[in-house]
Amino acid sequence: MKSEISYGSKRILITGGAGFLGSHLCERLLNDGNEILCVDNYFTGTRNNIEHLLPQYGFEFLHHDITFPLYVEVDEIYNLACPASPIHYQYDPVQTTKTSVHGAINMLGLAKRLGVKIFQASTSEVYGDPVVSPQPESYWGNVNPIGPRSCYDEGKRCAETLFFDYHRQHKLKIKVARIFNVYGPRMLPDDGRVVSNFIVQALSGSPITIFGDGNQTRSFCFVDDLVEAMIRTMNTDDQFTGPINLGNPHEITIKELAERIIALTSSSSTIEFHPKPEDDPMSRKPDIRLAETVLGWGPQVELTTGLSRTIAYFKELI
Ligand code: NAD
Ligand code: UDP
Repeated sequence: MKSEISYGSKRILITGGAGFLGSHLCERLLNDGNEILCVDNYFTGTRNNIEHLLPQYGFEFLHHDITFPLYVEVDEIYNLACPASPIHYQYDPVQTTKTSVHGAINMLGLAKRLGVKIFQASTSEVYGDPVVSPQPESYWGNVNPIGPRSCYDEGKRCAETLFFDYHRQHKLKIKVARIFNVYGPRMLPDDGRVVSNFIVQALSGSPITIFGDGNQTRSFCFVDDLVEAMIRTMNTDDQFTGPINLGNPHEITIKELAERIIALTSSSSTIEFHPKPEDDPMSRKPDIRLAETVLGWGPQVELTTGLSRTIAYFKELI
């Protein structure tokens, strides 16, 4: 039976809405009183992530691959569809590039026909293995165009190019956000990304797999903070296009992350060192001064708090 929540003011399309970030965004925007059209091909997203939303009034799911055109009527578009974990985006690299590039063209075409705003979930990967730290939006990056990560990095870079060309050529209202590493409940246990890997390994007592010497750094943002930042970005005035960095500037090494997770789970897991994957960036730390100024936003959830919430989710799941 459908629950009677108040009916939304906007009808919002979220591509990749059954994925990790997308499902949280669907939930938040639905709770804010909007109608949601969640589009996903279930490549890395799952029905489980949106099961609780399916019976709710104002939520609609459409099984669709965005590399094919989509004809729907909506007031706003968030384009999140694309696998984000290295093992998933490298599984079928051609499809990853198609999703980023053909998918962007299809969603931009839809936004153009409807005359609506469109948000692009871009990534810190557009900076590649950065030689500047922290990374400001003005940095053009250091990206290998032919390596195993290129399908994702270059696909997302090309998508940014398309967004800005649609903006210049067709006056489209665009919002391009460069998202840094996000973690939280609803990451897949076999997702392959570092936070979920380490938590699942720690909870099951298996060795924690550090790739390389563990001195590479990342800066992790809890999903609730990121969702807030995405919505604020969409609601900036029409002149604002981005790109805008969204993430938590608290930088830690992967080895420190492993130790933190072992301590928080009181795990008996040992640490195992494996070869570092090709082109794995040595550092990542967002310069978020633009987000602070334009959005009046900064991350609120500290790493230990966010990790504890994520650990609680995986404990329940496993
Ligand atoms: P995810 O893999 O959990 O979600 C991606 C979703 O897109 C999945 O539900 C998947 O089934 C769907 N999808 C993939 N290809 C599709 C296609 N061709 N058509 C329709 N649906 C398709 O990943 P996520 O972490 O939720 O990431 C969401 C977006 O945010 C991605 O675009 C990703 O590049 C971007 N991003 C995420 C992070 C992060 O740390 N989570 C960081 C930077 C950027
Ligand atoms: N990583 C690791 N062990 C794992 C998974 C990842 O040491 O089991 C490392 C990985 O090599 C990278 C960092 O953790 O240096 C972050 O990896 P992730 O795949 O989460 O994201 P990305 O590399 O895209 O930032």
